[in-house]
Amino acid sequence: MIGIYGGTFDPVHFGHLRAALEVYQGLGLREMRLLPCFQPPHRASPAADARARLTMLRSAVGTDTHGLVVDNREMRREGVSYMVDTLASLREELGDESLCLVLGADAFLQLHRWHRWEEIIALAHLVVTHRPGWTRVADAPDIDPVLARLWRDCHADDVAELAAVPAGRILPFAITPLDISATRIRAMVAKGESPRFLVPDVVWNLIRLQGLYDIKRNLDED
Ligand code: ATP
Repeated sequence: MIGIYGGTFDPVHFGHLRAALEVYQGLGLREMRLLPCFQPPHRASPAADARARLTMLRSAVGTDTHGLVVDNREMRREGVSYMVDTLASLREELGDESLCLVLGADAFLQLHRWHRWEEIIALAHLVVTHRPGWTRVADAPDIDPVLARLWRDCHADDVAELAAVPAGRILPFAITPLDISATRIRAMVAKGESPRFLVPDVVWNLIRLQGLYDIKRNLDED
């Protein structure tokens, strides 16, 4: 089984890395692919360019990777990064191995807005990460009925159900809640505050070295 963790990673932070590692370990995956997008479909262009985001992500994962593997196919493909195209290309590469697409519960609740979303669940399982104790995704007050039905119909109780078929099941998975967002990190850097201990030191060093996120230069020395 392979995990797939997509994101803008603008910049990568400990919320991403910890979630990816916990799913990798908890599901006993063969590897967890981290896929930085080139151009996200539902939002403005990233603040840092593709090369800078990829360098930060590779540096954050480092050499002692704990099963995390950076996969830059969306950046090589360029254009708008649709997950359905990415999954189709991974499926071609990996045959009928189980693919587990990791999504935060918030992202799952928007799934019906994704490009060709019905094909996504045919290509991969969904592992929906949430805070411990909060698995009532199907009861979320604003859930689209089509997603509520999908959640009910495809719900998996354990990882064995994901291993048994290549795609099509949905598994809720509790992770350590870390309230970190890239948006907040970019804002901190621009204001002259340090994001240290929210991102790996190597990422903070790259932000300073490359002058990313409208960095206020008085931070250069800390
Ligand atoms: P931004 O603030 O720019 O929107 P972000 O911090 O939310 O960025 P993304 O790269 O957009 O990060 O997120 C990629 C994936 O990481 C999504 O599936 C998202 O749910 C998940 N994710 C982001 N932050 C966290 C976090 N603190 N804990 C767990 N998962 C996270």
